[in-house]
Amino acid sequence: MKDLRVLIIGAGIGGLTSAVALRRKGFQVDMIEKDPEWNVYGVGIIQQANVVRAMAQLDLLEGYLDSAFGFDFVEVFAPTGQCVARVPVQKLDDRYPANVGISRRTLHEFLGESAKKAGATIRLGITADAIHDDGNEVSVRFSDGSEGAYDIVIGADGVYSKTRSQIFPDAPKPQFVGQSVWRYNFEKPADVDCLRSYEGSIGIGLVPLADTLMYMFVTTPEPGNPRYPREGLAQAMRAKLADAPPGIREYVGQITDDDEVVYKPLERIFVEGRWHKGRVVLIGDAVHATTPHLGQGAGMAIEDSVVLAETLEHETSVEKAFAAFQARRFERCKFIVETSVAICEGQLGLRPPANQAEAMHKMFAVTAQPI
Ligand SMILES: Cc1cc2nc3c(=O)[nH]c(=O)nc-3n(C[C@H](O)[C@H](O)[C@H](O)COP(=O)(O)OP(=O)(O)OC[C@H]3O[C@@H](n4cnc5c(N)ncnc54)[C@H](O)[C@@H]3O)c2cc1C
Repeated sequence: MKDLRVLIIGAGIGGLTSAVALRRKGFQVDMIEKDPEWNVYGVGIIQQANVVRAMAQLDLLEGYLDSAFGFDFVEVFAPTGQCVARVPVQKLDDRYPANVGISRRTLHEFLGESAKKAGATIRLGITADAIHDDGNEVSVRFSDGSEGAYDIVIGADGVYSKTRSQIFPDAPKPQFVGQSVWRYNFEKPADVDCLRSYEGSIGIGLVPLADTLMYMFVTTPEPGNPRYPREGLAQAMRAKLADAPPGIREYVGQITDDDEVVYKPLERIFVEGRWHKGRVVLIGDAVHATTPHLGQGAGMAIEDSVVLAETLEHETSVEKAFAAFQARRFERCKFIVETSVAICEGQLGLRPPANQAEAMHKMFAVTAQPI
């Protein structure tokens, strides 16, 4: 299949990496993004060695690592605040770090620039009102009244994917898992040189993002999924940390700006049925949104992008490419979603606690496999 005309709906992590991957194969790529400001919130994410490998496959590694903080260990702290282990993390390539922490904004800007530089067009504040697949091409009517014709459409529009409900109205809906995450940025002291993970009744972590920047995440049970008004969010986060161990306590007083607290109820979805219909395919959170307990959600979206571009390049029809894409991605993404949710449910007392070290070990073994 040569010269495919591709529309990507959603310019997030999955959409942008798909744009880069598809442009590298010589396909024409148009993107639309609902958010006119094209904004992401200002905390960070953790990515593992498989993401470093995928970024290398996308030829994005240099700029990516320049924007990130790499580390090769995870430190585990007991609820007393004592460091009980400094565990080396598996690398897939000795030249590069095993893990990175990266600011979402920095990653977003880097991927956005990379997609544009690769030749993708991106229109902001636009959605697809109607998608009509006649078997030969897909006609799309956009929210600004314009129209387009494409060989394939990729729904990379996240956990609440409208593309998913357009092609599969009966697909499952995202579910709240009973837990939420609170996040806040801090100035990073020099001795925080890797992920610090605190065990206890609530999960707490410190993640370096740059030489002088880190963020804290705090996972808390939130029965009934309460709404927290923006005003008072800093006070609410401090209250969640009332019993924080030493090593965390010293940061609690710095949580003062309501606008800088990023609060997120955790949701999951895994589409067991097909991820594609005709000439339309779904990737990333649109089909496999996970809780962040293994730090792999964005990694799965990025790997999707690499695999989808490969199958479109090598297969002889769109149908075969989409089927091959799903076959290569299904079990791996299912493992990540199910294992992450099992850790979460163990923390909530809904099932016996997961052995987190074992789960992480297995995750590294699974994600080390070729994609
Ligand atoms: C609290 C939390 C912490 C996380 N931490 C990590 C981590 O440490 N490591 C990790 O790897 N992953 C992490 N993740 C997961 C990660 O954020 C997601 O898996 C990843 O963002 C999925 O990428 P995506 O492109 O599929 O979706 P998104 O990044 O959500 O992008 C979707 C894009 O589509 C746009 N859009 C939505 N609807 C439409 C529409 N109708 N038309 C056009 N555009 C539309 C959105 O505005 C957005 O730009 C975390 C997730 C959460 C919730």
